[in-house]
Amino acid sequence: MKRRTFIKLVSLGAVAGTGFYFYPDEGILNPCMDTALPKRLLEHDVVKQAWEGIDAALYRDVHTHLIGTGDSNSGIYLHPSMQDVLSPLQYVRYKFYMNAGCADNAEGIDQAYVNTLKRLMNDFPNGAKSMLLAFEFHHNADGLRVKEKSPFYTPNTYAQTVAETNSGLFDWVASIHPYRQDAVSALESAIQHGAKAVKWLPPVMGMDPLSEKCDPFYVAMAKYKMPLITHAGDEHAFDNVDAQHKGNPLRLRRALDHGVRVIVAHCASEGTGVDLDKGENGPQVSNFELFARMMDEKKYEKLLFGEISAITQLNRVGPALQAVLTREDWQPRLLNGSDYPLPGVMPLFSTQEMHLLGYLQRDAVEPLEEIRRYNPMLYDFILKRHLHWQGKKFSSSIFESKNFFDENKKIMIG
Ligand SMILES: [Zn+2]
Repeated sequence: MKRRTFIKLVSLGAVAGTGFYFYPDEGILNPCMDTALPKRLLEHDVVKQAWEGIDAALYRDVHTHLIGTGDSNSGIYLHPSMQDVLSPLQYVRYKFYMNAGCADNAEGIDQAYVNTLKRLMNDFPNGAKSMLLAFEFHHNADGLRVKEKSPFYTPNTYAQTVAETNSGLFDWVASIHPYRQDAVSALESAIQHGAKAVKWLPPVMGMDPLSEKCDPFYVAMAKYKMPLITHAGDEHAFDNVDAQHKGNPLRLRRALDHGVRVIVAHCASEGTGVDLDKGENGPQVSNFELFARMMDEKKYEKLLFGEISAITQLNRVGPALQAVLTREDWQPRLLNGSDYPLPGVMPLFSTQEMHLLGYLQRDAVEPLEEIRRYNPMLYDFILKRHLHWQGKKFSSSIFESKNFFDENKKIMIG
């Protein structure tokens, strides 16, 4: 019944305004082929070539969402609108995420989502891992959680437990709101429990990275050499986003100036922001340009990094993708993420279009389309390995980010 309602809403065009752009040539729903990738695909030249020159033991996907409904006592919280057909935009969006994770028709949704993740990672060579993201509640200016403004919440403890139980496949990333009274001790606890980084989504979670209220957290992050993976650019995960400006990449200067290593998700490749370097009333400039400006500032050379998830979604393909492919000097400062489950949201990507736009050889299209039906996560990696622009490709180092996240290991907490 729920699935039928979902399809009806999609066909009514309810997706307009969800932030999803439609290229349905690979279908609307993820077919979720529930088996390992067939041998003929696993041994296909397109796959073999993708792994050439990459040490799989160093492979990390730094942007993998861990979602569910909380039906396993995981502590996951889901905003009621996500499961309410009367909030069609939220409902359709969430159904897409769960379908992408092959958990939409399952009895136990939390577990089904984790089982899918494990199946997908098992198609990767030994040692390759994805990094599971916890997801913090929205907090107000006083550092108190506001459930009504939170689309969902994935506790640090759950991300940690899933990663520890499957330590050959996953690492985990904590999510901590810097305005929390206990933010620094929560950070220290997360580090002691093996968190590799901290993840923020400012427009949704409510922190302003430019606020002085973040300072104690930044001081601690720099002290423990913990990377901050933070979303920048426009955001569409939730309807109630009234704070897109918090995703302005220039607001991250405060973290950088405290010495925090900052990884900008999607290289800020969507929307525009005020050019704050020219003041609060500065002109609107593309967020990607603002990110690129900071990347080219010498003082941030060892602090600012870009993460390339979603840049290959068709609504984003353009100058950002061309720049990250062709800027050779940036390659050592880029990291790969899939933003899974998004590669499983079928209408967001079109392999065929990528070929027509000139990013992909014709003979890679069909095998990639087929791989995607089994394993959208592997698809995302292999697609990126085959992209080219003006003869340039992503460097293999982008996919080998293990050591980047091991630097915080040396820090002992007393
Ligand atoms: Zn994401």
